[in-house]
Amino acid sequence: MILQNWWFTTLLGINEPICKPVNSDLKSDILIIGAGAAGLSAAHYFIGKGLKVIVLEKNICGGSSSGKSAGFLTPDSELELSQLIRRFGEAGAKDLWSVPTKGIEMMKSYILNYHIQCDFQVQDSLCLGIGRSGWNAIQDEMQSRKALGFDQVLYNRHEVQTIIGSKSYTGAVRYKGTYGIDALLYCQGMKKHLLENNIEIFEASEVISITDHCAKTHLGSVTADQIILCADKIDPALSHYADNIFHAQTFLSISEPLNDKMIELIFPGDRFQCWDSDLVYSYFRLTGDSRILLGGGNMLTTFSKDDVTSSRVIDKVITDFKKKFPQLKNLRFIQYWPGRIDTTRDLLPSILKDPTAPWLHLVLGCVGLPWATFCGNFAARHSIETKLQNDQHYYHYFRSDRHFLIPLWLEKIVGKPLAFSINNGWAKYYQKDTVSAN
Ligand SMILES: Cc1cc2nc3c(=O)[nH]c(=O)nc-3n(C[C@H](O)[C@H](O)[C@H](O)COP(=O)(O)OP(=O)(O)OC[C@H]3O[C@@H](n4cnc5c(N)ncnc54)[C@H](O)[C@@H]3O)c2cc1C
Repeated sequence: MILQNWWFTTLLGINEPICKPVNSDLKSDILIIGAGAAGLSAAHYFIGKGLKVIVLEKNICGGSSSGKSAGFLTPDSELELSQLIRRFGEAGAKDLWSVPTKGIEMMKSYILNYHIQCDFQVQDSLCLGIGRSGWNAIQDEMQSRKALGFDQVLYNRHEVQTIIGSKSYTGAVRYKGTYGIDALLYCQGMKKHLLENNIEIFEASEVISITDHCAKTHLGSVTADQIILCADKIDPALSHYADNIFHAQTFLSISEPLNDKMIELIFPGDRFQCWDSDLVYSYFRLTGDSRILLGGGNMLTTFSKDDVTSSRVIDKVITDFKKKFPQLKNLRFIQYWPGRIDTTRDLLPSILKDPTAPWLHLVLGCVGLPWATFCGNFAARHSIETKLQNDQHYYHYFRSDRHFLIPLWLEKIVGKPLAFSINNGWAKYYQKDTVSAN
């Protein structure tokens, strides 16, 4: 198994050109820094608005988290619905759940309207319980979805075996409106559409400083009326809001293609996108060319400071997966890759206008492609037309000075990995925010 992002391998068949780096001093109405799901969605908002828009991307469009991701488009990310209800009540949870739900609809409409070839798959979500606690978690999720008036189907231990070829699960909840994509091809497809609509994109253009309205790269600069920062793993030199962001690491692997008989054994019901109820959960789905995309991690590496690149973590995920699906014991996984997902202390994003420089908009720590897509669009809309927007209140949920269990000063003593793991756990399992949506 080689250490290589499979989605980069799939780029070999496409014709999209690489955009040249910026190498002069430019001026624009809008500058977007970072071209992952968030930055691309922000740029998309300005199409047809008669503004000069420039995107600066350090790598290629989608070259960081978005283009490493498993491409599950589901509103379920690190924060489950039952956890949001505990934290924000039913109304608040519904309000927040609509963020990734709208993000999914936006991505789907871009893909279908612009004919983006990104292995778009309609895949129902199947959240699988493991053990008694997993069955309890599945029932919680079921109750939460019911309480908010959503559609879903519950499967008990016996029933779940009719739709998934394993005896290891104690139940499942299934719901529709979710999709699978090759997110790197999606980003490259969005790039093509933006270029065709007069958005200027510079790849290989890392912003190294932002002073006043001017962002500098190694070779040039852009001075803009409004700057929208959608970058990941930001350096504190670029913005002190870097303090608010850390990351969680996960691993992915891709198999050889399965034949129809094997697929029928694993997915007798439907070709679901699945994840399980373990604390560090595993997730899997089929790609359009019938490969298993399998992801997971472990407790030790999730919050490690740097990328762990050894195959040991994913080897264990694959071994456990094969125990659940012994029919696949001879299936070979051919590539694996790690990726760090930017996150805040409580797993909700940080979206703000810098109070000392109100032309600078920050979109940071979006966990999940749908979240990033909505948040990029949100920041873009509010950068030029705040008065016309009716969702101003999201700034309150996503403000950077919200309450966290371990405050910044204590984090400086215990260190980011420990502080973030405790804060993330607290947000998922205990936190209650009685006043957040005011
Ligand atoms: C292995 C893995 C699996 C995942 N699986 C899923 C999944 O199945 N479903 C899901 O919804 N989410 C998944 N995620 C999470 C998801 O990928 C991210 O939450 C999402 O892509 C964040 O999008 P973004 O645009 O905010 O950030 P990014 O995609 O990281 O985009 C930020 C961009 O900014 C650029 N940049 C950084 N610094 C600078 C700079 N100084 N100047 C210019 N450009 C800069 C980067 O190169 C990058 O392209 C996964 C993530 C990983 C790593």
